[in-house]
Amino acid sequence: MSQTDLTPEEERVIVHRGTELPFTGKFVNHKEKGTYTCRRCGASLYKSESKFESGCGWPSFDDEIPGAVTRKPDPDGHRVEIVCSSCDAHLGHVFVGEGFTAKNQRHCVNSISMSFIPATDEKTSSAIFAAGCFWGVEHLMKQVSGVKSTTVGYTGGETQKPDYKAVCTGTTGHLEAVKIDFDPAVTSFEALTKLFFEIHDFTQTDGQGPDIGTQYLSAIFYADESQKKQAEDVVKQLESMGHKVATRLIPASAFWPAEDYHQDYYSKTGKAPYCHIRRRIF
Ligand SMILES: [Zn+2]
Repeated sequence: MSQTDLTPEEERVIVHRGTELPFTGKFVNHKEKGTYTCRRCGASLYKSESKFESGCGWPSFDDEIPGAVTRKPDPDGHRVEIVCSSCDAHLGHVFVGEGFTAKNQRHCVNSISMSFIPATDEKTSSAIFAAGCFWGVEHLMKQVSGVKSTTVGYTGGETQKPDYKAVCTGTTGHLEAVKIDFDPAVTSFEALTKLFFEIHDFTQTDGQGPDIGTQYLSAIFYADESQKKQAEDVVKQLESMGHKVATRLIPASAFWPAEDYHQDYYSKTGKAPYCHIRRRIF
């Protein structure tokens, strides 16, 4: 994770949980379409569609990008602090029950904790797949033209910042998964979803191949309704061919990158994947 150098004022807010003065931040009245990202690590936090006018003097959002924001009890004993799930940067606080929008929550975020990427400049989409041992899934997904980067990690569980040892016990609820960042002008979520089904046994219900346990289950973690619909359509296609599909479709939540030695495992070690090979279905 690369981190940006912070100015003293950014550090006061982001590191030392400060608050910028109301009505002073650059995003208070900002109305462009795009994505608000973490000022420190660049992770995507909020879509412009969830931004609304609250009159409170800070940018207000009624929902975060799934898994992007972590809630913590504020040391003041009353409020709920929100931080970047990737790097723990302080963002602000979240308030519920104020009735501003149908979602009935307000993420009150310091402008200075965020950067902004206009929709016209967004050239990367993401997909998250779980298909057993993440080494093999990453190895095959990386080879697709249009895939810009891949990260192996853990998602879908309860605990914060799980490590390999904890996930391997099968008790944290996390699955081994791969996050794929791709250029939507070159490949698509649908194409990657079809490849996902071709490189593992999606009929297996207790793990993948020799790897047995809930951490090895087959799942697609969809980011939005469009990805959900596309995944459902591919599943229907498989079922119409007579396949039984055990893959779960789950809304995306926090994705925790795995330890460095798991990243690009097969390229680093020069070994060949034992667990995943491609067989054509579509
Ligand atoms: Zn961050």
